[in-house]
Amino acid sequence: MSESCNQSCGTCSDDDCDERKENPVDFSEKPHELSKIKKVIGVVSGKGGVGKSLVTSLLAVTMNRRGYKTAILDADITGPSIPKAFGINTKAMSSELGLFPIASKTDIDIMSINLLLENETDPVIWRGPIIANTVKQFWTDVIWGDVDYMFIDMPPGTGDVPLTVFQSLPVDGIIIVTSPQELVSMIVSKAVKMAEVMDIPVIGVVENMSYFECPDCGKKHQIFGESHIEEVAKEHGIDLIAKMPIDTALAGACDKGMIELFDGTWLDHIADTLEMNGEKKMKIAVASDNGLVTGHFGHCESFMIFDVENNKIVKSEAVPNPGHKPGFLPVFLHDMGVNVIIAGGMGGGAVDIFNEKNIEVITGASGKAEDAATNYLQGMLKSTGSICHEHQHSDECGEE
Ligand code: ADP
Repeated sequence: MSESCNQSCGTCSDDDCDERKENPVDFSEKPHELSKIKKVIGVVSGKGGVGKSLVTSLLAVTMNRRGYKTAILDADITGPSIPKAFGINTKAMSSELGLFPIASKTDIDIMSINLLLENETDPVIWRGPIIANTVKQFWTDVIWGDVDYMFIDMPPGTGDVPLTVFQSLPVDGIIIVTSPQELVSMIVSKAVKMAEVMDIPVIGVVENMSYFECPDCGKKHQIFGESHIEEVAKEHGIDLIAKMPIDTALAGACDKGMIELFDGTWLDHIADTLEMNGEKKMKIAVASDNGLVTGHFGHCESFMIFDVENNKIVKSEAVPNPGHKPGFLPVFLHDMGVNVIIAGGMGGGAVDIFNEKNIEVITGASGKAEDAATNYLQGMLKSTGSICHEHQHSDECGEE
């Protein structure tokens, strides 16, 4: 292992490294440096036309209505339907820094190949690797800014393109969309296996076009035959998180670009689950000396680790600093499941690795470690973004 090892084999060119051979190759891509994306949810389906884009759009609208900054990355390059559902006809702009998403009427940020093509009816006749690369660029080259929930409308199926996308983007969970007329069991089985291989949790399955409710008598008709989704979900050990009816108003809203006006509560349970997941799993690490936030991240005595549930600290423990060598601590904290790191100051190298690992960095904090964590949870602690430049010796504050 070389002196400068930062444990990121995917970006290292040292082919002779012994460690490298033991580690799996890391294909993950870094988001744009001006993007800070907290949760990434992939929406998948077995084939096109089952309502994957509609579910993606409705989820984004639902989370946006709950006050979260929401974005949609349209990775369905050969069948992009997100801009149309939101009534967006303008083209995306770029600067030397990157590409800008287009904000919908209710401020959901969107990037799609249709926002880049001269003529949106032009077919995209590209081979798989180019399609996968385009999706990667939507992650790396788009200036998303601060995003609480990003929904990815995935390419249909479980082939090469979705696989590459899952390897490259840090997807926190997937939602599988099916319709009753498909070979549901096989589709769900494939999606679940893909998620297992990629080590991504399955949030649950949505059955779209589940039934049609007669507007006159209120009777529900299973137009595509009897649904078996309950048994299929049980068989694969996943949750059935929504059943959506065939709704002509929904289809009309999509066609008219008015999806943001949709009226319905079908996806509220998913939104609750996403909120719960977001809060349940949170771990905050505060670089501390004697219970106080330390000025120098890398040289702290210990990390106070706070487990958070429903926005409240439920457990805290002090984990001694295992020692400071370049690039080591961010990986150590990531492996402990830490989502946020709070410190007085930090070196730019460490900040970069935390960002790469999707860990939020808060610098400029001081006072009691627990107060800093509580203030963060109450939205009262914002990062000053302070990077330690003032030290002559290179590794102070975790500087690489
Ligand atoms: P996919 O992304 O899976 O290819 P879409 O979301 O684009 O599928 O949906 C295909 C078409 O079916 C769209 O025109 C959409 O408006 C319509 N549609 C999808 N779900 C429903 C539904 N529950 N009720 C009515 N129309 C629907």
